[in-house]
Amino acid sequence: MRRPIIAGNWKMYKTIPEALEFVRDFKPQVVASTHCEIVIAPVFTAIKSVSDRLEGSNVEVAAQDAAAEPGPGAFTGEVSAAMIKDSGARWVIIGHSERRQFYGETDESVNAKIRAAIGAGLLPIVCVGEKLDERDAGRAEQVVEAQLAGGMRNLTASDASRIIVAYEPVWAIGTGRTATPETAQTMHAFIRTRFGAMFGAGVADNTRILYGGSVKPDNVAALMDQADIDGGLVGGASLEADSFARIVNYKDRS
Ligand code: PEP
Repeated sequence: MRRPIIAGNWKMYKTIPEALEFVRDFKPQVVASTHCEIVIAPVFTAIKSVSDRLEGSNVEVAAQDAAAEPGPGAFTGEVSAAMIKDSGARWVIIGHSERRQFYGETDESVNAKIRAAIGAGLLPIVCVGEKLDERDAGRAEQVVEAQLAGGMRNLTASDASRIIVAYEPVWAIGTGRTATPETAQTMHAFIRTRFGAMFGAGVADNTRILYGGSVKPDNVAALMDQADIDGGLVGGASLEADSFARIVNYKDRS
């Protein structure tokens, strides 16, 4: 049985006081939400304050990226996976499309970051997903397959059992355009099949595959109804406590 995960990616939003205000409003709304794991990913500078404030609650913290180098070392501007763990996070988003698009993230760097994250005891949420022109050209599965093959290169089944995959079609991120539940389900089933081929059926069956791309309170339940959708990675709609709580509590409303 795969326990769903609802994760919020705050991107480059929220100062520490704003993040703590969110926590104050959000925590009571999800205190009884035991049907899923709940994760929020603040900016690096807010991780420690948010983690401290969430201690003992059912909400955990992720970083939005990690250095590829395990460190410590002379890598100005980087934050190692071990430092992220030290600041109170248990999860880390790796290979988000914005990092691929704006900061030169490649499948090779994703692979190195996954290794660093696992080495430090973090749970990597690894993002894959095709661009609109790739989907229009009928290449969506080919693109995702290549991202999985490159990102997971030479990982063991034991490594893979710690990984969460987030399928985030780039054309659906921040656009208000969500993949239909059926389109998402087809890709999630494909990802699970690829995981099975790479790491065995046991690992594939247990791997949580999240959908990301304009998840909102009014479309989350239909997405979560799909057999291979095990949660959501939520951007815009995770920035506001009430809206993110409604997404987390999709079960009460379906
Ligand atoms: C994201 O940033 O991972 C994302 C899915 O954003 P949004 O929900 O705003 O589309």
